[in-house]
Amino acid sequence: MEVMDKWCNSFPTEIKVGYQRYRVHLMDEEERRNCGDKLGSCDHVRSVIKISNHLAGPEAVNTLLHEVMHAIWWVWSVGDETEEERGVTNITNGMCCVIADNPDFTTWMTRNLSPDKRADAINALYGNGN
Ligand SMILES: [Zn+2]
Repeated sequence: MEVMDKWCNSFPTEIKVGYQRYRVHLMDEEERRNCGDKLGSCDHVRSVIKISNHLAGPEAVNTLLHEVMHAIWWVWSVGDETEEERGVTNITNGMCCVIADNPDFTTWMTRNLSPDKRADAINALYGNGN
């Protein structure tokens, strides 16, 4: 149980998706049952992503990323809702493989997406106005 508590405490509590900030809520077993036994859900109206608290490791990453993809689908109005579940599942599973198989790529992306690096890149391309 201590390992699970430690794992749950390391979950991000909020994830920014475009103009929205989604709160990440860990569901206990009762909440999960009331949610149709789903591992996760994404509530766009309340901006809450719910994840089952019994998940860990790759399953937790995949489920949280899956719900973030639903948020992206919503925030950027990607398209037809009938295709959403299949599209989200396929892209998430692919992203989990790419992230897991390319840790250097993931680190490089994260580093270069930081606001500081973005400012550096803009300065390098267009000068800093001085
Ligand atoms: Zn889904």
